Amino acid sequence: MSSITEVKRRRVPIGNGNGEGLYKEVLEEKTLYDFHELPEWQQDNDKILTGYIRETKSVLKCVRSLFIWNNETVNIYTHLVSAVSYFLLMLGITDLVMVPHFPTSTFTDYSVINFYLLGAFGCLMCSSCFHTFKQHSGPHSDAWSKVDYMGIIVLITCSMISLIYYGFFDHMEYFRLFTVLTLTLATACTVCVLSDKFNHKDFRPLRAGFFIAFGLSGVFPVAAGIIKFGIQGGVQRVQLKYLGLEAIFYIAGALIYGFRIPETMFPGRFDFWGHSHQIFHVLVVIASFLHLKAVMGSYIFKHSHLNGVGLAALQSTY
Ligand SMILES: [Zn+2]
Repeated sequence: MSSITEVKRRRVPIGNGNGEGLYKEVLEEKTLYDFHELPEWQQDNDKILTGYIRETKSVLKCVRSLFIWNNETVNIYTHLVSAVSYFLLMLGITDLVMVPHFPTSTFTDYSVINFYLLGAFGCLMCSSCFHTFKQHSGPHSDAWSKVDYMGIIVLITCSMISLIYYGFFDHMEYFRLFTVLTLTLATACTVCVLSDKFNHKDFRPLRAGFFIAFGLSGVFPVAAGIIKFGIQGGVQRVQLKYLGLEAIFYIAGALIYGFRIPETMFPGRFDFWGHSHQIFHVLVVIASFLHLKAVMGSYIFKHSHLNGVGLAALQSTY
């Protein structure tokens, strides 16, 4: 018997099953485990009591767990389905949405919008992989967890740069300044994420705070835009109503993740449906979609509010 997979013994009748001692013993693999049955490295959230895939030591078994209803299933599919959707948008958005609306779209428009879609796809795909393969073993879980955090950094970076571009599409010096600032913060986050200390479960609230702070650094280009173009101009350029909603969803998600709401109040009741990580995932998807709405709105604003001369000048510039 493997130390990883527990096996249950069951007696089944042989032949017509009318007994007389003719039984054979069959071994059945147990698929789901309770929190207290997990190896120590896997015991992360003691408020989720059941429904665990225990350490598999096998990539194939991790892939097979995709087809077993367990307490990671919602986490995996909320981001996998969204990742595939963003990938399809990446293939189709240029021809289906952008060109029909504004045939004057520039290569930079395509690049910026697809850059954001690529970031969203990358982040959600990294997250799906983390939740699928973290069951493998302690070292694999640690490595995939870093991949997961890197995905978040990529998404924040791509979100910020797309926002900065549309905020300052006609003032490239500001675009360069805030892009350098974003890349500097992204590098600092990457250094922290890749350190093993950061990954420890005691640092969960700190991790949540760290990503909130990086995301909120978007306040600086928005404030600069408002100072430069006035409230109306600054707000319209970056579609601030969507960005504000996006920030609320991200912050709510990070707080729910950080404080493990609601399972902390009702341990065991949200094992398969509705625990904090699942809510966090759904809020991240909604927030990422709101950012896409903002980017598309900014793109439309840029093209519909420029007169012919201005637009022609822009096209020749980029
Ligand atoms: Zn996750």
